[in-house]
Amino acid sequence: MHRWLSTVMFVLCNPLQHRAALRLLDALSRSQWLSRAELDSLQAFRLDRLLDHSRRTVPYYRQALERAVAPGIGTCRERLARLPILRKEDVRANSVALQSSDLRGGRLHLSRTGGSTGEPLTVANGTAGLIAATAAVLRGKEWAGVRLGDRGVAIKAHGEISIAGRLRAGLVNIHPFKSCLSREHLLRTVIPALSASPPRYLTGYPTSLLCLANLMEERELHIPVIFTTGEMLYAHQREILERKFAGRVFDYYGSNEVSALAFECEYGCRHITDEQVVLEVVDDADQPLWDVSGRILVTDFRNMAMPFIRYELGDRGVLSRAPCQCGRHLLVLKELEGRSQDAIRGPNGVALSGVFFAGRFRNLERIRAYQVVQQSETVVELRYVSARPDAQTEVNEIVAVIREHLGAAVRIEERCFDTLPLTRTGKTRHVIGLGTLDPGKFTAKAPELKLH
Ligand SMILES: [Zn+2]
Repeated sequence: MHRWLSTVMFVLCNPLQHRAALRLLDALSRSQWLSRAELDSLQAFRLDRLLDHSRRTVPYYRQALERAVAPGIGTCRERLARLPILRKEDVRANSVALQSSDLRGGRLHLSRTGGSTGEPLTVANGTAGLIAATAAVLRGKEWAGVRLGDRGVAIKAHGEISIAGRLRAGLVNIHPFKSCLSREHLLRTVIPALSASPPRYLTGYPTSLLCLANLMEERELHIPVIFTTGEMLYAHQREILERKFAGRVFDYYGSNEVSALAFECEYGCRHITDEQVVLEVVDDADQPLWDVSGRILVTDFRNMAMPFIRYELGDRGVLSRAPCQCGRHLLVLKELEGRSQDAIRGPNGVALSGVFFAGRFRNLERIRAYQVVQQSETVVELRYVSARPDAQTEVNEIVAVIREHLGAAVRIEERCFDTLPLTRTGKTRHVIGLGTLDPGKFTAKAPELKLH
C-alpha cells in the first residue's frame, strides 16, 4: 500500500487517537537518539509532573505520597527508590481511589484484566495514555522493519472477532484470526489464508504461533517478521518460529496494566520505552539491581487517569546499561524470566521455574503439552496432553526430574487432559506456583491484547 494512503487509512480507523499517535511517533523517532543524560533529564521532568498530578488529583496517592521526598532532589531513579511500591493487591483494593479526578479533557477507558496471577484487576487509562502507547507500538514495529499499511496477520489468543473490529483492522491491513489452538481451524482456515497471501508480519502469543508452526513444513511460507507477545518466549521457541517461517522474531514486552514497555531493535536488544516509562529491577530488600535478576517495577508517565508508580508487575528480569550496537541509549531489558510466581518449590527449599522446565524438556515428542501445578507444600500435579500412546515414558522423565530436585517428600500426581486450561486472556502457563490462581478456574472473557 502507498505510504500516504496507509497513513490516511490508519487515521480513518480512529480519527481522534491515531492522528495524535502519528505526531507522537515523530517525536519518539527523534527522542530514541537522545543521549543517556538527556533521557535521564526527560524522565526526571516527567516524574515531577506525574507526582504533582497524583498528589493533587488521586486520593490514593494523596495519602501514599504524603511522606515522600520533595520533587527535584536526586535523580529520577533515586527519587523513585524512596517511594512506596504499588502491588497488585493495592490496585485491587483501591481501584476507585487510584483514579484521578482530572482526565485532562480525555475519556476514561476501563478494562478488566487477568493480572499476572490470573486474578482480575480493573485498570483505567485516559485517552492520552492510549495514544502514547499506540505511538510506542508503532515505533517498535518500525524497528522490525514493519511500516503502516504492511500486510499483517494477527492470531488472536481467545474470543470472537466482531465485524466492527474486523473492519477497523482491515483499514490498517491487519487480518485477524480467532483462537489458534484448534488444529481443525488452523488447517482449514488459517494456513490456506496465509498461503494464499503471505503477510509481511504475523503477531500472536508464542504458544498460538507454535501451534501454527508445528502444522507447517519448514519454509512452507516466508513471513519476514514474527511479533510475539503476551507470554514468556523461550529461546527454543524463537528458534522453531524463525526456522519454520524463515523470518525473524521480535518479542514485545508489555502487560495489560502497563503496555508497550519494551521492544526489540534490529540488533535483538529489548529496549525499554524510556521516554514513557521507568523500569526498575530490585532485589528482595527493594534495592536497585543492574545486570542481575530481580523483580520488575514500572512507573508509567502516560497514564494520568490511574497512575501506576513503582508498580510491581510480577515479572522478573535483568536490566542493563550496556550500550547496544544500534546506537540508541534507551535501557535494555537483557533477560525476561517470566512471572515471579511461576515456580514450584520443595520442602527442601529448591525452586524450579518455568525457564527450567522449558530448557530441560524442549524436545518432548510423546507429550503434546504439559503443565506443572503446585497444589500444596508437598503435592505437585503434572497435567499433560498425550501426543502418542507411549506418552508415559516422557511423563516418567518429568516426574523423575521433579523428584530429583524437590526431594522424595513431594508427591507427584499425574493427570491426562484432552487440552490444557488457558488463563482468562488465553495464555498458557507451564508452571503454576503455590498461591497463584489456577487458570483452569477462569472462564470469563477478558480484553484482547492489541498490537496495532
Ligand atoms: Zn538496540
